[in-house]
Formats: sequence, C-alpha cells, structure tokens
Amino acid sequence: MQRERYFDNAATTPIDPRVVAAMVPYFGERWGNANSIHAAGLEAREAVEQARAQVAELIGAQSPDEIVFTSGATESNNWLLRSFCDSAISPFEHSSLYESARALGRNILDCDGLNALFDLSGERLAISGDQSSTNAVERDRAGPIKPSSLLSLMKVNNEIGTVFQPERLSHEGYCVHSDVTQAVGKMPVAAGQFDFVSFSSHKFYGPKGVGVLYARDGLFPSPLLIGGEQEQGFRAGTLNVAGIVGMGAAAEIAANQMSPDSVLAWDLRSIVSEGLNKKLDFRENGGPEVSPYILSVSFYGIEGEGLVIEMDRRGFAISSGAACSARSTEPSHVLTALGLEPAWLRGTVRISFGRFNTKEAAHDLVKALNAAVDSLKRLSV
Ligand code: PMP
Repeated sequence: MQRERYFDNAATTPIDPRVVAAMVPYFGERWGNANSIHAAGLEAREAVEQARAQVAELIGAQSPDEIVFTSGATESNNWLLRSFCDSAISPFEHSSLYESARALGRNILDCDGLNALFDLSGERLAISGDQSSTNAVERDRAGPIKPSSLLSLMKVNNEIGTVFQPERLSHEGYCVHSDVTQAVGKMPVAAGQFDFVSFSSHKFYGPKGVGVLYARDGLFPSPLLIGGEQEQGFRAGTLNVAGIVGMGAAAEIAANQMSPDSVLAWDLRSIVSEGLNKKLDFRENGGPEVSPYILSVSFYGIEGEGLVIEMDRRGFAISSGAACSARSTEPSHVLTALGLEPAWLRGTVRISFGRFNTKEAAHDLVKALNAAVDSLKRLSV
C-alpha cells in the first residue's frame, strides 16, 4: 500500500523512517537488558532514559520520573481503571476504558453527568453539537464522585475526532485522567493539567506495542504487572528497549514537526470535506471542535464496511470505525451515544490523515469516495 493513499492514520500511522533508523541498533549490536549493570546494560539503560526525557519533553512533564513505559494505551488505561475502586468515565472513551468500565461495573457518565463536572463558575460546558444527544446505550448518571475516585475524559475521540476539554474539569475530590492517544504529537498536550495521562507511540509514527502512563509527581497507582523492579517497580517486565527508543525518537520528531504536520492535516481534511458531492445524502460527525486529523462521515442508507472494501479496491485505506472494533458487528458505542439513527450509523466511515498523505492523494480519495458511494447507493436501490 502506498503511504500517501493510506487514510486510516487514527488506527495506526506508518512508522517514520527516522524512527526506524533510531531503533535498528537495538535489534542488533545493542542488545543489552536495560536492568543489567554491565556495559551492555548501561548502554541500553542510557537509551531508555534518553527516550523517557524525549517523551517527557513532548508532554511537558515536570520530570521524566513521571513517565512509565507500558505496552500501549490499552495497558495504561486498564492499569489505571483497575487501580481505582470508584471511577467514572465519559461515554466517548476508547474501548480499553469503556469495556473495562463495563466489565468492572464502573460508572459510565451520560453527557449531562459529564457537563455537570466542569468547574466553570456556573458556566456549563456543553459537549458540543450532536454529542449532546443522549438517547442510547447502558449509561448511568454519575453518582456522587468520592475523593480518591477517578474521572476520565479523553482529549480527542478516536472515532469522530471531537476535541474535548478535560483540562477544564474540576479536580476537586477526584483524580482526572485523560487518554490523549489521538492528541499527543498532533496538538500541544500539557500533561501537568491532569493527574494521569495515557497514550501509545504508534499514533505518532512510532512503533506499536509501546506506550506510556504519565502520573503527576510520579504518584503511580499500585502496579498491574508484578515481578521485576523495572520502571521504579511500577511495571514489571524486561524493557522493550528498541520500542522505547523508537517512541522517544518519534516524540522528538513530533515536537519539532507539530505545526507543519497540523497545517497539512487541516488542508487534507478540507479537501475531502469540501470535495464531497453535495448531492449525496451525508452528514459529518464530531461537532464544531474537531481534530484536523479525523473526519467522520455518515452516508445515509449504505453499509460503512461495504464502502471501506470498495475504497480498498480503489487503492485507498479508510475505516468504518475504530480498528479495535472494526471486526465487531456491535454498533459503535460512540456513534450510538451520538443518537444516530441506524441508517446513518451503519453508513459511517472514518477518514484519518497523517504526515505522509499528500494533497493530490486527498483529491483522488474524495473523487473515489464520491464514485464509490454513488455506486453502492445504486446497488442498494
Ligand atoms: N485510546 C485511544 C483514544 C485510541 O485511539 C487507541 C487506539 N485505537 C487506544 C486507546 C489503544 O491504543 P493501543 O491499541 O495502542 O493500546
């Protein structure tokens, strides 16, 4: 697949060649275990600590000690949620929090419950646009949130691209967590505004299978994985040195390239959004505050999966939802929370942009999309 025609960057980004170059030695001549005390170990340890500093810099952490490397945002989210007996999450969270909350019997807020938690001296911060519609899924109003509970609201939604304002949540009486997986490296993230932050490296051109849990002042919850003394004893297991080095390199590149990357993403998003054939029955999801990197569109009366396959046949990768649930026949909890009618919901696709897409490819994509929707519509008549 050509990188420029890959429009599923919210599922994962192509790894940046500069990141690969940084990682390669750690698959070869630098094989040390970062916990060994001999020269090979120290060399690996130094590389890990450099990566920790690079990641800390990207999210404005006070100290690299506030960073623990994990296998990804899924692990970070599970770890955190499992370590709080009381927690409430927004209805828009990624499945690694949403399904964990369901399995553990934690609160899943509705929009009113969520809005009520913003500390804006009387001003209510509405979860904008469509998202205020709440006629769906198993959700509870927040009970009183107790001290020592966790409240979780993501920064950017991975399916519809909505930008939320978790930094405006009051911290009074509870810890605030934000899953910044779709934001980090793409927009400035100031981790110190939260108690906890989680993210993965492969969403900003780093390798898969490596991520972070950030805890302000290094106040990590008790470990999920117990064993060796790695990561200050908070996350046992031999460190994935090559992966961590890759994440560090990706973080440094992202910090330097965030503005041009985001200018390109806005251009690509506008090309596709404005190029959609107005005669087609479609709606854009996500509300007014959206990430430039994600465009969610619903086409009335067609199947999103059919459109993804048709686009693949035409040489483009897009997605019918989050990749983690793309094989599931269950409707997406996020789209359901929008209150979308089933005929809209089924026809939803996500187009997500990245550093390696070109404007030319975006023009070609929207032409192909218009033609593909048109032909699927004809088939369904
Ligand atoms: N949170 C969000 C918002 C995501 O988009 C993803 C990846 N789709 C995750 C968590 C999980 O990341 P990973 O699969 O790398 O653990």
